[in-house]
Amino acid sequence: MARVSTARLDDTFRLLEERLATISDVYSAASVLAWDRQTYMPEGGVVGRAEQLATLARLAHEMLVSPKTGELLEHAGGREPGSDEAALLRLARREYERASRLPARLVAETSRVTALAEPAWIQARDESDWSLFAPHMERVLTLKQEEASYLDGEHPYDAMLDRYDPGSSTHRLRSMFRELKAGIVPLVRDISTKLGEDRTAPLRGCFDEAAQEAFGRDVISSFGYDWGKGRQDRAVHPFCVNFGAPGDVRITTRFDPRLLPVGLFGTCHEAGHALYEQGVDPSYSRTPLAGGVSMGVHESQSRLWENLVARSRPFWSHFYPRLRDAFPGVSGDIETFYRAVNAVRPSEIRTEADELTYDLHVLLRFELEVDLFENGLSVADLPEAWNAKMEEYLGIVPENDALGVLQDTHWAIGYFGYFPSYSVGNVLSVQLFEAAVEGRPEILPEMERGQFGTLLGWLRENVYCHGKKYEPDDLIERATGRPPETGPYLRYLESKFGELYGFVDEV
Ligand code: ZN
Repeated sequence: MARVSTARLDDTFRLLEERLATISDVYSAASVLAWDRQTYMPEGGVVGRAEQLATLARLAHEMLVSPKTGELLEHAGGREPGSDEAALLRLARREYERASRLPARLVAETSRVTALAEPAWIQARDESDWSLFAPHMERVLTLKQEEASYLDGEHPYDAMLDRYDPGSSTHRLRSMFRELKAGIVPLVRDISTKLGEDRTAPLRGCFDEAAQEAFGRDVISSFGYDWGKGRQDRAVHPFCVNFGAPGDVRITTRFDPRLLPVGLFGTCHEAGHALYEQGVDPSYSRTPLAGGVSMGVHESQSRLWENLVARSRPFWSHFYPRLRDAFPGVSGDIETFYRAVNAVRPSEIRTEADELTYDLHVLLRFELEVDLFENGLSVADLPEAWNAKMEEYLGIVPENDALGVLQDTHWAIGYFGYFPSYSVGNVLSVQLFEAAVEGRPEILPEMERGQFGTLLGWLRENVYCHGKKYEPDDLIERATGRPPETGPYLRYLESKFGELYGFVDEV
């Protein structure tokens, strides 16, 4: 008898898997349409594409919340604790419960409104005119506030955070940012007194775009980005997208012909996301286990490859001679160049910020989002509130809104609650990198030779392959032996920038 009921349980589980695979396919199809919208679609496609995306979002949502899915979830039974099946059920139930609370109308409307808001944001940013984007921002924010009202959370903003970082909360982030602020603000202050000459001169000039692209491709090929399972295109706001399987993980890049870091570090950043996605166990494809476990852990990988690798001395000892071959206009010694790519200079744009001031850009956005969701900050007052916080944290007021409140795409596409993931990612990037180097000390000498296989192997084994199987905190503890903590990150910043700006002994 027991065998019969196990067989029935297995049948139910298989039916559930099939259903979840179909839903995953619909989301993947929507991702292809969204990727196309941001890369190749002509302007005339905006309205039609918004409808198509809304339809797919509604179909996937309806299938997920249908009584049939609920029934299968209910009867799929308990699975072996710690197994992939148990994790799949836990994740599917969480998605089902979250989605069941949201009306299909709201889901489709959010998809449609954000698909229209994004091109409006691009135009508003091009013309530096907040009034072109403000009505769209109102609509997106209202829908997101409505979404939060259907979901749990001590704070309405918690519902936004939970989507990107399961287990995160406003309370927890406040305490993380308090620690970051206490560590970073005095460092920035110390460095500000020593800023002196602008160290970034070697990064400015005229850099042929094709040469930038080729150099970036060489770098991320050496990281292990698999071109047979990906490609690189141009986009206004670079991103990485996975079309439902580790076999098609694409990245996009933006190049600035006058500023080398935009394209180069942007490419390394998106490649970090892609390495994570390409490294997930392929058997998880089309299941809730596929993809990165949280945006915080995801950003830890983009930031690890961008900063701990591509802004490090070992990396440049290999790549600097190659960079000079690619761009004959670049001159000076390697140390000058290393100082240039790590120059601290409070600036307006988050994606171009140095490692040290980066988290202050995130802190500002976190506080503004909390104010929008909980403290009645209005869309009309947002540009002014933005500029006030820029002055408070970075000592500068953006010249215009394109360099200020209009710089990021996140709000246009409805990604409220995403920004804190960047700082969570910074924190985790150092904790993971240090654990990797401790476990495999050959990583650093290999980096000096332009080899990254051991590092990638450690990350694949300890982070990437697991997909969403473990909760984010568990994953970090399994990989590093400790729960997530800010200590390693703050010590790293102090040591690196202390040495660069000469207020601690050389390390
Ligand atoms: Zn990223």
